[in-house]
Amino acid sequence: MLYNLHTHSFYCGHGSGRISEYASRAEEKGFSFLGFSEHCPFPDGLFADTRMAYGEMAAYEGDVRAEERPFPVLLGYEIDYMKGLHQYFAEVRERTDYLIAGVHFVRRPDGGWATPFSQGFDDGDIVAYIDRAIEAMESGLITFFAHPDVFLCRRPYDRLAADAAREISRASKALSIPLEINGNGILKGKGGYPHPAFWEEVRKNTDAAVLSTDAHHPKHLDKTICEIRRFAENLDFTVLEPAFDDGRLVLRREQGS
Ligand SMILES: [Zn+2]
Ligand SMILES: [Zn+2]
Repeated sequence: MLYNLHTHSFYCGHGSGRISEYASRAEEKGFSFLGFSEHCPFPDGLFADTRMAYGEMAAYEGDVRAEERPFPVLLGYEIDYMKGLHQYFAEVRERTDYLIAGVHFVRRPDGGWATPFSQGFDDGDIVAYIDRAIEAMESGLITFFAHPDVFLCRRPYDRLAADAAREISRASKALSIPLEINGNGILKGKGGYPHPAFWEEVRKNTDAAVLSTDAHHPKHLDKTICEIRRFAENLDFTVLEPAFDDGRLVLRREQGS
């Protein structure tokens, strides 16, 4: 089954392509399910340079809802969950089909923000990352946790990274929030994620994962699908697939496994 639940667009400012172009690409390629998960803006404009503008949410949501295809097209967001904004994200969840969360920023003791992409995470950032990841999974708002190994973008895999893999996968198992094997790291060619050692550690606690391309361009919707599937199979993960159950998005183990 071809599907993608982690899809961006021109709306976030660092992606390109309109919603309809992604849906057409999915149709051409024979997808059975497509979900849009644009980077959710913050009401106060925090991280606005990598997020959709707050004032554009209605247009984005309207574009996704207008899609009529031979397969389900779902409306979602990728959120940077923060406890202080729980009510806001809960309201966004109410009017959408699903949310996913990723941790793209952590707060440093000096009040600044660190990201794994440009400067890389130090040890303190990883500890904060683990906490933020678990908080997002505990929020009760998300369907899966995106690119749990994104913090390895500019870091070697070490003992602290193994701790992160263990703690995040234990929480995933306990809370029944699956983790995502994400193809965007392969596409960027930067290494980092998906990271085999990270996922070997995860595999000790959980045996199923969601596959996403994290597309930011229509042509990338299906581009790394074969690689991430092979990655999952090499580590003996069962692939989870989306289904609609009573109008609710659920993830099920792939048939035959
Ligand atoms: Zn993005
Ligand atoms: Zn992300």
